[in-house]
Amino acid sequence: MEPVAHQLTIRALKAHAKTLGLEGSDIQVLLSHVLKKSRTWLVAHENDALPCAQCKQLKAAFSRRAAGEPIAYITGEREFFSRNFIVTPAVLIPRPETEALVEFALKHAPRNGKILDVCTGSGCVAISIACERPDLQVYASDISEAALSVARANAVKLGAQVHWREGSLLTPWEGEKFALIVANPPYIAQQDPHLQQGDLRFEPSLALTDGANGLQMISALITQSLSHLQPDGLLALEHGFDQALAVRKFMQAATYKKIQTLSDLAGHERITHASL
Ligand code: GLN
Repeated sequence: MEPVAHQLTIRALKAHAKTLGLEGSDIQVLLSHVLKKSRTWLVAHENDALPCAQCKQLKAAFSRRAAGEPIAYITGEREFFSRNFIVTPAVLIPRPETEALVEFALKHAPRNGKILDVCTGSGCVAISIACERPDLQVYASDISEAALSVARANAVKLGAQVHWREGSLLTPWEGEKFALIVANPPYIAQQDPHLQQGDLRFEPSLALTDGANGLQMISALITQSLSHLQPDGLLALEHGFDQALAVRKFMQAATYKKIQTLSDLAGHERITHASL
């Protein structure tokens, strides 16, 4: 016989999650997500017994988190630039530091300009730009078909107009020129131990590493962008905290001008931009 004990209170479920080693903030997010209730509702209903189905769902979510799965893959969403994006294991989880790439684009994109987001992943960069600046024509591409379908779903959900193409770096854009190209390319070196830690273990390796020293995609983007920028066009790339000097050197060697690096909130050099 199915024991009634399966009907647990929120308080008991929280205690269960703690025994699995989950942090309070993660427990909170998973409770809100599964029960579709606010934080304040949860506090007021600590002693409510939950239907078995919800207990099971919560226990499953807690176990996934305890096994290290990123919160965003369990809830299927992540906030970026004040909008909620659908995320699946086919895409990189949007990071707060990448918001600076959007800010750069919003500030520097000329009125009605053509903007390209390469390695778009979930589409978070392209879609944020399109939503904030409806005057722009926004284009985006990714090598992964699975990632592009997440990006398309996000554009529909958020009502953004973006032109999508599939393919490696600039190859889908033959003959096209843009006022601004932005990208958060895979820039982690294959040997970097971080790939074996935390959320990164669950994210698509195609989105994280170039399979080499971390600078292959960046240098290819810098070279390929030369023939895809309009006169005075801008290129802005996100990169690793220790890659700024190398990125600036690549840009110099490729004859870009006005090369500058921006630091993120943690003080790490994170985005380098230049003009054709
Ligand atoms: N543009 C997406 C992001 O910034 C995906 C980047 C990637 O897959 N490397 O989150």
